[in-house]
Amino acid sequence: MALRSDWSQRTCAMARGLDILGDPWSMLVLREVFFGNGRFDAMKNRLMVADSVLTKRLAGLVDAGLLERKPYDDGGRTRQEYVLTGKGEDALPVLNAVVIWAEKHLPAPSEQAHMFVIHSTCGQRTSSADSCTACGERLTADNTSWHSLTRTPEPVRLATAAPHNSASQNSASQNGPAA
Ligand SMILES: [Zn+2]
Repeated sequence: MALRSDWSQRTCAMARGLDILGDPWSMLVLREVFFGNGRFDAMKNRLMVADSVLTKRLAGLVDAGLLERKPYDDGGRTRQEYVLTGKGEDALPVLNAVVIWAEKHLPAPSEQAHMFVIHSTCGQRTSSADSCTACGERLTADNTSWHSLTRTPEPVRLATAAPHNSASQNSASQNGPAA
């Protein structure tokens, strides 16, 4: 899926990771899905990107196992939206780290051009990608919000991986029929 040569077989784990997470458009697609914005047209509008670019990144992220397609009803017509897998959700600290590093080191072009990572449980901003620097709790997608000031007046709770994986099916079968 890379814009560059294929790094998926590199001996260094960082290079293999960057084969997927080193592409800016792919990271922005993941941002949109974490924001709960996983439908093609909505993503395209938000990212202001050509269809071909978005299609290619979505296919790449599905092939790499970070996103999956989920059907939804669009006024009587079935279309596909994109949701996170567990593998995709595990990329959250990488995205958090990019945001936190940029807020710390890169000038913003306007007063509103900021984005913060917030621990929803305590409501505080964190300056660490994987734990809350206010209360110490580990950050997960279901206890993290992002606040992009240009996007919404309030922080947005993040999307989590779709809950139909084999683990939940196993636990359902272990529990036997519903009482
Ligand atoms: Zn906290």
